[in-house]
Amino acid sequence: MLRECRIVTVGEILVEFVSHMTGCALQRTGEYSGPYPSGAPAIFLDQAARMGAATNMFGGVGDDGFGRLVLDRLRADGVGTAGVSVVPGRSTGVAFVSYHADGARDFIFHLVNTAADSFDFSPDLLPQGRLALHVSGASLGSAPMRHAILSAADAVKRAGGIVTCDPNARPQLMQDETARQTLARVIGLADCLMPSTSDLEHLYPELDEDAAIARLAASGAPIVAVKRGAEGATIIAEGARYDLPGHRVTEIDPTGAGDCFCGTFLALLTQGAAPQEAGRQANAAGAIAVTRRGPMEGNSGPAEIAAFLKPGAAGGRPA
Ligand code: ATP
Ligand code: MG
Repeated sequence: MLRECRIVTVGEILVEFVSHMTGCALQRTGEYSGPYPSGAPAIFLDQAARMGAATNMFGGVGDDGFGRLVLDRLRADGVGTAGVSVVPGRSTGVAFVSYHADGARDFIFHLVNTAADSFDFSPDLLPQGRLALHVSGASLGSAPMRHAILSAADAVKRAGGIVTCDPNARPQLMQDETARQTLARVIGLADCLMPSTSDLEHLYPELDEDAAIARLAASGAPIVAVKRGAEGATIIAEGARYDLPGHRVTEIDPTGAGDCFCGTFLALLTQGAAPQEAGRQANAAGAIAVTRRGPMEGNSGPAEIAAFLKPGAAGGRPA
């Protein structure tokens, strides 16, 4: 289904600062690391490019150091950036994150009215050929991006392409009802859905996990991948279910692992891998991702994933 698709994203490009202090709720002065390249669609696409997929990003950065930092990284990793605008008079979007001892996160996003959501987009700019448009649900919290993404999704579907979706339901970015309705619409268009377990709870609080997965599959997506953090992932495709146990690693910074998982999974599907194999490598890529601070710093390529999965190496022995 995804074979030979070019992967495109329309969405926010950010830099992120990560607090070194746990439990500070972003309301205490302390040390931070950053700026790190970020933005869920950008992390996702960077990983897809590193895994060998043909990619194009549509988004915006400011004419500033943060913007140049992210653009340089995306280009170095092979992402097609001709669709990224440098937006006059707007700053690059910024996110801050801090963790609590139990792994819960606080985010502050400076995204609305920055270059992150104020870029020009029209479906005419989409490249020719068979496309897979990947949508990160968090992008749908911003009205201008919502319009851009829906117009892209409609155009891609009309042209016989594929829509994939990571619901990525960040409560901080999904505060209005229109955002939730738009996410439901994108889920209805999607051919491949990649929710985390917390996305399932957020989307269908009244359903248990199996019922929530069944509801998603019933929306018409032939492939569903459920991300379970340290517990690994489950792939449901072609009438089969593959439960992939999590790898035992030291978690430093889990933000971005989901995008890295999705980027690996879809990049491999576009290159003809079977869903089970794509899931196996994505599960390893997600585990590698959490071991490094910075949401895109944990992205990896085929050689690193193969080394991680080698018998006797860190990922050679699932937990
Ligand atoms: P985010 O939205 O923050 O990018 P997510 O909630 O969408 O992340 P997760 O389930 O946290 O996604 O992580 C994605 C994948 O990464 C998991 O399915 C698993 O394969 C891997 N992973 C995440 N955390 C760990 C961990 N602590 N140990 C091993 N693997 C992990
Ligand atoms: Mg996620």
